[in-house]
Amino acid sequence: MELQPESDGQPAIRPTQFILHSIAAPWTARRIYEYWRDSSNLESHFGLGYEGDLAQYIGTETRADANYGANRRPDGTGAVSIETASNLKHTDPWTNAQVEKLIRVGVWLHQRHGIPLRICRAHDDPGYGYHRLYSAWSQGGTACPGDARVTQFRKVVFPGIVARASGQTSPTTPPEEDPMPMMLAESNDRDVDLASGQWVGLAFDDAVLHTGPRRHHTLVHLLLAPETPDEAVVEGRFYLTDTKGQNPSAFMPVRVRGGGGHQFTCTADVPAGRHLRFQVRATTPDKRPVRLLHRAASGPYWAL
Ligand SMILES: [Zn+2]
Repeated sequence: MELQPESDGQPAIRPTQFILHSIAAPWTARRIYEYWRDSSNLESHFGLGYEGDLAQYIGTETRADANYGANRRPDGTGAVSIETASNLKHTDPWTNAQVEKLIRVGVWLHQRHGIPLRICRAHDDPGYGYHRLYSAWSQGGTACPGDARVTQFRKVVFPGIVARASGQTSPTTPPEEDPMPMMLAESNDRDVDLASGQWVGLAFDDAVLHTGPRRHHTLVHLLLAPETPDEAVVEGRFYLTDTKGQNPSAFMPVRVRGGGGHQFTCTADVPAGRHLRFQVRATTPDKRPVRLLHRAASGPYWAL
């Protein structure tokens, strides 16, 4: 079911995100198509009915209109979107048939377009999300896809995509205990000279390790040049900021000495609206800089 003329008239995108919606109508995929064809030009790439009936209306490398600021960004990247049948107030959960199709589409997008297996950490961060996750994805805010479906996304749909894309069997019901964690794995081997006595914020993939609400156990591994003097004091600290990187939390640095590998760990909850970041400071007796050769951040985390 191809939507014309939207399908030809829209610019191309390089898809980096998958954003899930509820359409606040108990429609089939066919009816969603007719609605967009006849009544509105605010379309999505995919539509999904209660019975798992799935239709694609627009190619995934063409812009669709459902995600406001994420439809197509100035760098040409954009979001692939799916509208899903729901009750009129989008308060009901997805059916099992819908969950299964959402997982399949999510896995396909990972395989076809390389969308990374993570929940978007910012409005323009590649990954998976749902409409209300970032205000930049709607005009004036939205509750879409509804509370029940946000919970399903975090506990069933997204873990299901991760599990199946990595060749495991996936849960189709929410785990009661010990939900499957997602894994943070970021590293950066660009050499950095750390000026003596100055705190430096480190980027791994980027400067934000986690975006709340999230529970995490994170290990940061730093490799300092072997010629670093043994007397050098090396401090690392995790801290929380707001989404603009401002209003830092209290700092609790951990102190080690000398060159080579050093590890810093943090196990905590990141509240909603807060970001977890990491800083390092090296202080040498002669004020010479210390060279950082490699840095990595890894560990499990859970959506809250
Ligand atoms: Zn929506």
